[in-house]
Amino acid sequence: MRSLIKKRIANFISNFYYNSELGSHILTYHSVSTEKQPKEFLPLYNIKPEIFTEQIKLITDLNIKCGTIAESYNNSCQLSITFDDGFVNTLENAAPILFDKKIPFTVFVTPKNIINHKNIFMTIKDLKELLKIPGAKIGSHGFSHVKLSDCSDNEMTDELINSKKWLEDNIGCVVDTISYPHGAYNHNILNKLEKINYKFALSTKFGRVNSKVNNFCLPRIDVWSNDTIYEFKNKIFGKWDWYSYFSKY
Ligand SMILES: [Zn+2]
Repeated sequence: MRSLIKKRIANFISNFYYNSELGSHILTYHSVSTEKQPKEFLPLYNIKPEIFTEQIKLITDLNIKCGTIAESYNNSCQLSITFDDGFVNTLENAAPILFDKKIPFTVFVTPKNIINHKNIFMTIKDLKELLKIPGAKIGSHGFSHVKLSDCSDNEMTDELINSKKWLEDNIGCVVDTISYPHGAYNHNILNKLEKINYKFALSTKFGRVNSKVNNFCLPRIDVWSNDTIYEFKNKIFGKWDWYSYFSKY
């Protein structure tokens, strides 16, 4: 959320929002760096390492149980941590902090960015290095980061199959989870995922994860670079779940 006025209004609502429903939350991070990212990436998604450290410290200080996406789905943990896009700074800046605190995490990567050797993204070697960290998992973020809802039927199937296969063949891990590029999906995609052996798909719609939620449109909570530690705490305790009403997908 870029506008400070909108953020103030949102904070005001969050202070009063309460949802008694059980469930866990999945956080979405992108870049964790002090360096400016190329202009196609919003500064809102580039979090300073010291802020990230403070957020992870809060999670551990509050004894919040962190787990995998599967554990979030069956509510055997309170929080899961994910990173979209596969920035090299996930490996350099975020992973060591999570490893230190023994917190599992999943990184969603786009094979086309790896093939094109864009130096802000992890290479095959980096991803293999990442997988040596206990609790680290890799998922698909589409083959070429296109909006899947804009694809033809064949293109969409190719994106889903080829991203999974490329990662499994080149990194040597099982890929059974996808996060939708740009958060975009439609019901046609949901019908295909099971046949292609995906177990979970993650959206960018805010909300909590519980048994009522479709495993192919799991909600997540975006962490923004302008979040204060108070706002972050509210987010992990579900006080921003109402923001799903403003999500496009
Ligand atoms: Zn993305």
